[in-house]
Amino acid sequence: MKVTQATSSAAAGGSGSGGSGGSREARVAAHSHIKGLGLADDGTAMQAAHGFVGQKTAREACGLVLDLIRGKRFAGKALLLAGGPGTGKTALALGVAHELGQKVPFCPMVGSEVYSSEVKKTEVLMENFRRAIGLRVREIKEVYEGEITELTPTETENPLSGYGKTISHVVIALKTVKGTKQLRLDPSIYESIMKERVSVGDVIYIEANTGAVKRVGRSDAYATEFDLEAEEYVPLPKGEVHKRKEVVQDVTLHDLDMANAKPQGGQDIMSVVGQLVKGRRTEITDKLRGEINKVVNKYIEQGIAELVPGVLFIDEVHMLDMECFTYLNRALESTISPHVILATNRGQSTIRGTEYDGPGSNTGIVSPHGIPLDLLDRCMIVRTLPYERDEIREVLRLRTKTEGLVVGEEALEKLTEKGVNTSLRFALQLLTPASILARLQGRQEIAVEDVDETAGGLFMDARQSVQLLKA
Ligand code: ATP
Repeated sequence: MKVTQATSSAAAGGSGSGGSGGSREARVAAHSHIKGLGLADDGTAMQAAHGFVGQKTAREACGLVLDLIRGKRFAGKALLLAGGPGTGKTALALGVAHELGQKVPFCPMVGSEVYSSEVKKTEVLMENFRRAIGLRVREIKEVYEGEITELTPTETENPLSGYGKTISHVVIALKTVKGTKQLRLDPSIYESIMKERVSVGDVIYIEANTGAVKRVGRSDAYATEFDLEAEEYVPLPKGEVHKRKEVVQDVTLHDLDMANAKPQGGQDIMSVVGQLVKGRRTEITDKLRGEINKVVNKYIEQGIAELVPGVLFIDEVHMLDMECFTYLNRALESTISPHVILATNRGQSTIRGTEYDGPGSNTGIVSPHGIPLDLLDRCMIVRTLPYERDEIREVLRLRTKTEGLVVGEEALEKLTEKGVNTSLRFALQLLTPASILARLQGRQEIAVEDVDETAGGLFMDARQSVQLLKA
């Protein structure tokens, strides 16, 4: 089974590879100031900590959910965050993921993402479930580890073509704790070295079995202790093993699916172009997932790997339909499930997929938050409340710091005012354009005029634009 490095973790602020990974990352970037839930040891929320300001009851409730998760008493349940737009629902979900640990996957998605003409709704859900389940693989590998003190490719004339040169072998000297060891490597390992972009002075390890090269750091001591004297030549892969090293890799089940999926279609130009256009979509079948699960289970039994359930965050959950809710109910029961956090800003709504006059009509089953009662039964519901003026000001201040922006006190007050009259998110979104306007005027600091020009001059909030259309 192929294993590739995971890209999705709360710590990295990233969120999964694959087709829609880019937008997922952007969704997380808006919350880069959030580092946790900011709770004290007794579980009470500090007014401002870990990037969080206010919303104390919701944070404390999330803290309690964290305790349930840690005590393995949250299985089969979900957390539902209900509150107006921009009240920190996504931020809370990310905070929970951060609190669960460094490399815990966080997979945010929006309910409407499941509607695609190409992929089945439940398939999209399944994919996101697997993005939110991590696997920590610990392998004991036999490696040569040391600092490169010499890296010399040796070229010879290419005997076949009669012209041009090829690399016949590479001499690499590794300075280790036991002294300098010179290795003579074959050209394929040189390619791997080039790919890792390692050079003299880097500390690397070379896996004895595969020849895979990893850069582990850089040593500055090298410059003074440069030693070209070769001790001996050691051929890879059968050479004397220098060190056993525990190598930890964090991947998600979705990464494994992707790495092991076969590209669809043949080798003709249409298929190749087709693959490029669709973002090199590969087909992940149920059979493949089943096989991967088997291998994963074997790794877990052997103690090589452990599951790291992350957080699957489904925003605008009322956009899911009956079929998706049924799937969710079943998936929550599964033994391998991430921690599921749902969010909505709707009150009583029609459950999609139950309308007998077709989607969008008002004829279906009405339920709280547009969620069927059997799923609601599983949910612990936490409410998020609108922010006070001081809280909006504080979040704005935090965000300017994170984005490396300078904002004058008067301009900050103006932005706060906008936040109070519209929403926190609207005020936050004004920051970057206002900073660009300031820079265009040759200023580092955002001034009141930049805020005025951005909000109202160039961009409007929803209320302003509706009034303009009415006039
Ligand atoms: P929606 O319902 O529209 O998805 P939401 O409730 O998920 O909105 P967020 O996206 O979490 O709202 O919040 C909007 C912005 O405000 C984000 O950048 C978020 O990090 C920040 N934010 C919200 N609440 C807080 C808070 N209490 N402390 C610090 N930052 C916050």
